[in-house]
Order: sequence, then structure tokens, then C-alpha cells
Amino acid sequence: MRSYLVCFRDSCREEYPIDSVLYQCPKCGGLLEAAYCWDCTAASGWKALWRNRRLDNSALEQSGVWRYRESIPFLEDVGQIVSLREGNTPLLAAPLAAQYAGLDALTFKHQGFNPTGSFKDNGMTCGISQAVRLGKTLVGCVSTGNTSASMAAYASAAGLKPVVFLPHGNISFGKLSQALEYGALTLQVHANFDQILAFVRQIADRAGLYLLNSINPFRIEGQKTIAIEMVDQLDWRVPDWVVMPGGNLGNCSAIGKGFLEMHEVGLIGRLPHIAVVQSAGSAPFFEFMKAPSEGGFRPVESPETLATAIRIGDPVSWPKAWSVLRRTNGVVERVSEQEIADAKAVIGRAGIGCEPASAATLAGIRKLVANHTIQPDDHVVGVLTGNLLKDPDYIYRYHTGQLKTPGGEPITSTYGNRPIDVAANADAVVGMLEKLQ
Ligand SMILES: *Cc1c(COP(=O)(O)O)cnc(C)c1O
Ligand SMILES: [Zn+2]
Repeated sequence: MRSYLVCFRDSCREEYPIDSVLYQCPKCGGLLEAAYCWDCTAASGWKALWRNRRLDNSALEQSGVWRYRESIPFLEDVGQIVSLREGNTPLLAAPLAAQYAGLDALTFKHQGFNPTGSFKDNGMTCGISQAVRLGKTLVGCVSTGNTSASMAAYASAAGLKPVVFLPHGNISFGKLSQALEYGALTLQVHANFDQILAFVRQIADRAGLYLLNSINPFRIEGQKTIAIEMVDQLDWRVPDWVVMPGGNLGNCSAIGKGFLEMHEVGLIGRLPHIAVVQSAGSAPFFEFMKAPSEGGFRPVESPETLATAIRIGDPVSWPKAWSVLRRTNGVVERVSEQEIADAKAVIGRAGIGCEPASAATLAGIRKLVANHTIQPDDHVVGVLTGNLLKDPDYIYRYHTGQLKTPGGEPITSTYGNRPIDVAANADAVVGMLEKLQ
């Protein structure tokens, strides 16, 4: 099947070979995306093909990304694929979270079950496989944490050298540890995320570095399969709403592209509404969507939020996300630090757990139900983007009443659960346990 890169701007639509090393359209500077000439007749057989592959133990079919490879046919040779068995993430029913949000039912698609603990793995298997195809040996990214963890793992698994650029002092220890353990050259730069990204884009070609930031169109291809796996797991029933946090807005662009393409080839008969949730201290897309216009996007100068994975002031993928919201009749919501912290604790109490950015999903759903955008009986799937253990420091502070907003305001531990010091005294401990019954 023919695959190519195409400029995302409607006014340009310039096409480039699929193996070009480009991050932006050379003609107009627009974003690039992978595109294909779909064969809708062949697509009618994909559902059965994909379901049958679950019985196959080969590495390729065990991947929850590459099992759906007919939907991401940008490689000529599947022998170049680098997989850590990403995807395969569960749909989890969460009655407690549904109740909190004011819904009859709520299901989470938990991307934190991925090999390095976030949805970045869905995209990275594609980005690194493309790097191998291009013959690259050095790969790099700027990251708030999860991209670097994922890139380091996949690059090392492929025998490539990962180089990670991090904003100095603004990364959770869990994520930094992963980059180190997976063998990345780890550079902590004294600048914020957006500044470092601009810097690295300048030096990439000179340094021979293949960039795997979310501007990389192949990562978007892998993340598309989150949508496909979701509806496969739902036996091809399409939810009314799919809700996720938004930072750089790559993930909502990808999940939206997944739904739009499934619709285009006839795998699904309708589209869900996509809802994106931002943290109030880092919500340029929310502001933009109040009065959207070409050229009307205003970055946030100093984004601040404890949900570091969505602490992005100048999201590169906003034009794609805007298009997804228009085409799915979607919305964007914003939530406070307190709302994120409480929603996160509720997800924990449900026995599920997630990192702070992911909890924006539930906080956002709750607001969208309260303002009647989402109806209580709607079929809602919330995407939880990252694993609970990514940010243990945040959790400890919340439960012990020490969590503060970036501005220094205390956050109330509404669902706090402190550890209790006790002596090894049987009567005292039994007395405590009796109260639990
Ligand atoms: C990267 C990330 C996000 C933000 O996704 P974008 O594609 O940048 O919008 C949200 N949550 C987690 C856990 C992430 O790792
Ligand atoms: Zn262009």
C-alpha cells in the first residue's frame, strides 16, 4: 500500500516520501502526518484478522500496536520492528470513579500498563522502528519524563543510542530513574520544556540526532492504535465520549486520527466525541478553543502544574488537536490542582491508580457531567495515560497533607491516607483493626 508524509495544512498538503527525515513541512513549516491510500475492500477483513492474531505467540502478534499493522502500514519490512509487547492495555470498569463523576458507568483504558508505564510506548515502538529503517544510530527527545523513559528503553532494545534532554529540576524521580537505567545519555538543561525543544530542533541535523518528540509523525501512528485496540476490546461498539489529558496534544491528535481513519475505511459507523482536559496552570488549548481561529493560538509563557506530564505551554500538535475536536464535535476542559489531586486519589481507591496527569481525565469528566456536556448515561471511556508509580513523591505528599500547588497554596487531602506509627503492641494493633470491621 502506498504510504507517504503529507503536510497537515489544508492550504499546502505537500507530499514527501515516507522515508524522508523531516519534522516539519519544508515548504510551509506545517506539521507532517503519515497518510496512506486505503483499500476499503481489504479493510473489511481486518476485524477478524486482528482478533485471530491474539492466539498467536509471535512477538509481532503479541504487540498491541503491531497486531493492528494494516492500520499503520508505513514500514516495508516488518523485520525492522522493535517491540517490547506494548499496548495490550486493559479496559477497567471503575464504579467508584463513575459515582464520583456523576456517571452511571465509567471505563478506563489504562495506558499505564505499558512496558515503561505510559502510552508513550505505543508511539515509541513505531518511532524507533522508523529510526532503524532510516539507518539512524543516535536518537533524541526533549521530555517532561515519560517520552524519555520510553525512548531510552526502545532505543536500547534496538541497539541505538538514546540522548535525553530534560528541563532541569522539573521531572519526577521515577521517570528520570528510568532514563538512567535504560542507558540514555541524560542531559538536564537549564531552561523550560518549550525552550529546550526549540534548541534541540536547531541542533538535531548537525548532531545527526533523529528526533522522537511528539512532532515525529510515526509516534502518532503508534498512538492511533490506542483507539483501535479500545474499540476492538469493546467488540466494535464506539463510545459516546473518549476523554484524555492534553499536554503537547499529540495523544488526542493520534487517538482522533485512529477514530477518523477507522470511520473512513468502514470499521466503525460513527465517531465518539473527543474531550481533552488540561491543567489550569497550563491550559493554552482551553483558552484557544474559547474563540478558535487560524493564527489565534497563544502559548502560555510559564506553564505550571504538578501534573508534570502536561506541563506544556506551547503544544506543537495544537493544529491537529483542533481538527480532531472540530471533526468529532469534541470539547476541551480545564481542571485545578485540587481537582486533579482528588480525582487521582479516587482512582487509587478504586484499586486502579495512575499518575497526576492521567487523573485530569476523571477530574475533567466530572466537570463535563456537571455542566451537562456529558450525560449521566453516556458511554464514556477515560484514558489513563501513566502508571501510579511514576510519581510517588506526589502521592506521599497528598496523603500526608504536604502537597502544595506550584504557587505554594496547600492542597486539601480530601481522601488522605496517612501512614500511622505504632509500637509492636498487640492490644493496640488489634484495637485499631477492630475499628475497621
Ligand atoms: C505525555 C503524557 C501526557 C500528555 O500527552 P500529549 O500527547 O503531550 O498531550 C499525559 N499524560 C501522561 C502520563 C503522559 O506521559
Ligand atoms: Zn506545508
